[in-house]
Amino acid sequence: MSKVHNFSAGPSILPKEVIDACVEGIQNFSGTGLSVLEVSHRGKEFIAVVEEAQATLKELMGIPEGYEILFLGGGASMQFLMVAYNLLETKGAYLKTGVWASNAIKEAKYIGNVEVVASSEDKNFSYIPKNYTIPSDADYFHCASNNTIYGSQMQSFPDSPVTMVCDMSSDILSKRVDVSKFGLIYAGAQKNMGPAGVTVVIVRKDILGKVSRQIPSMMNYKVHIDKETMFNTPPVFPIFAMLQNLKWVKKVGGVAEMQKRAAARANLLYDEIDNNPLFQGTVETGDRSQMNACFLLKDTALEEKFNAAWKAAGISGIKGHRLVGGYRASMYNALPIESVEALVNVMRNFNK
Ligand SMILES: *Cc1c(COP(=O)(O)O)cnc(C)c1O
Repeated sequence: MSKVHNFSAGPSILPKEVIDACVEGIQNFSGTGLSVLEVSHRGKEFIAVVEEAQATLKELMGIPEGYEILFLGGGASMQFLMVAYNLLETKGAYLKTGVWASNAIKEAKYIGNVEVVASSEDKNFSYIPKNYTIPSDADYFHCASNNTIYGSQMQSFPDSPVTMVCDMSSDILSKRVDVSKFGLIYAGAQKNMGPAGVTVVIVRKDILGKVSRQIPSMMNYKVHIDKETMFNTPPVFPIFAMLQNLKWVKKVGGVAEMQKRAAARANLLYDEIDNNPLFQGTVETGDRSQMNACFLLKDTALEEKFNAAWKAAGISGIKGHRLVGGYRASMYNALPIESVEALVNVMRNFNK
């Protein structure tokens, strides 16, 4: 099989060694002679997987003491609801920067009052709002660090007067983040951390237990913490696969190396988008995402030809989201720079 350059927005590319380690685990898990698909989540071999995944993530992200790490089902979308369930008493403050941030707002409204502190909806979410004020009477401030669909990314985080909660689904582990600024971070694994099926929640314990409502068990962070993330059967295989990927990140140089690679990939592609007269970016330059680069062909009549050209080069998954149109190249941690070079070459040759 010739090489496929996988720019999929999610679920997305994983390193070949991670896929190989998953194959091995499916055939013979930790030398048990059994598949990881058919063992108890309470056996010592799988408990060791969970503990190693927590320890590795803690080390990679520099997670301080006082935080718990949970591996839950339900996707990042369930966190939209769970955050509000566990934290919203008076009101939640939200930054509206795209589809996922809007979905978080929608779910929080099922629980209580929501104040949108700023929005970039006026320009089709093509920038990150600045100079907004986070109300100090809110229970928390929620933001999405990277807007997977529109291709914008927060370049820095505000100094929030209240607990900061962040959806980092599509840029976690791609750059260094000061975890101590956040009360809660969550991320679906399927963009930058592993396959679909597990969502990581990093929560500072002291922010919990402050709301007056009853919280159903599955929605309650404290229940999951008390049961060491095994209140119910956890997503066993996705956690196993995520561990293989965390080990890969650590082996190749950790988050600092991921950050270097992300910058190199993004600079290469955005330079081409800006210098090639056929294309244009869709997001304000200073707010562009290093993970998801959205761009358009200025002359849409050329689309069919361009599509044929990148497909012939073995490129997969760059068709834009229907809300933005055009193209979106998702460049997550495992994407080699050679894949970006292949895309840039297609764009250059297309211009010639
Ligand atoms: C993909 C994505 C989600 C949704 O994740 P699910 O696991 O499908 O619920 C939420 N937030 C962001 C930023 C995403 O990129």
